[in-house]
Amino acid sequence: MPLLPWDEIDTVLLDMDGTLLDLHFDNHFWLSHLPQRYAEHHGISPQQAADELLPLFRQHAGQLNWYCTDFWSRELQLPVSELKREVAHLIALRPDADTFLAALRAAGKRVALITNAHRDSLSLKLERVELAPYFERLISSHDYGFAKEDQQFWFALQQDFGFVPGRTLFIDDSLPILRSARDYGIAHLLAVRQPDSRKPEKDTEEFAAVTDYRALLP
Ligand SMILES: [Mg+2]
Repeated sequence: MPLLPWDEIDTVLLDMDGTLLDLHFDNHFWLSHLPQRYAEHHGISPQQAADELLPLFRQHAGQLNWYCTDFWSRELQLPVSELKREVAHLIALRPDADTFLAALRAAGKRVALITNAHRDSLSLKLERVELAPYFERLISSHDYGFAKEDQQFWFALQQDFGFVPGRTLFIDDSLPILRSARDYGIAHLLAVRQPDSRKPEKDTEEFAAVTDYRALLP
C-alpha cells in the first residue's frame, strides 16, 4: 500500500461499484440472477441462457450501453431495474469505505462520486447504503453521454466539476478506466485489490491498489 502525499491532493474522485461497494452484488446479478430470470422467461436452461447472454455482455463491455439498465431492459425484454431490486440485500459497502469518506470530509478534500452506473442503479444503491452525504457531487457518466473509459468523459467532468488533474486522486477497480484517467493527466491513481469480496485478489498490473482504507486515511 502506497502512502499518499495528501498535501498534494485536494480533490478525490471515487468510483462506486467495486471501489466503495462490494462488487459481489453486480457480479451476482449479471452472472447468476439475471441469467436465471432470463432462462425462466424464455423457458430455456440456465446454461443456454448464459450461452446467449455472455457474448452479448462481451460485445457491449466498456461502452455506455453496458451500464444502461434501459438498454438491457429493451435488449433482453426484461425489467432489469426491478430484477436488481430482488437481490438488493446484497448491496454492501466495502470494509471501512465509510471511515475513509468521513476522513476525506474532515480533511476538507473535495470529493465526488463518478460512476458509469445508470441513475436507476445509483438510486437503488443509495437507498441501501448511506453514501450521498459524503459527496459534493454524485456524477453518472450517463449525464455526459460518455463512459469513463472515453477521454470525452474527463473533458466533460472538467467542464462540470472543475478540478486540477495534478492535484487529484482517483480510485477505481477498473484498469481500462484508470488508464483513461491517467491519459487525461490525473496524477494520483489507485486500483482496488479485491473488488468482489467473494473472489480472489486481483492483479492490478501497473497500478498500486487499495487493500485497506484505514491505511489510506489523510
Ligand atoms: Mg467499478
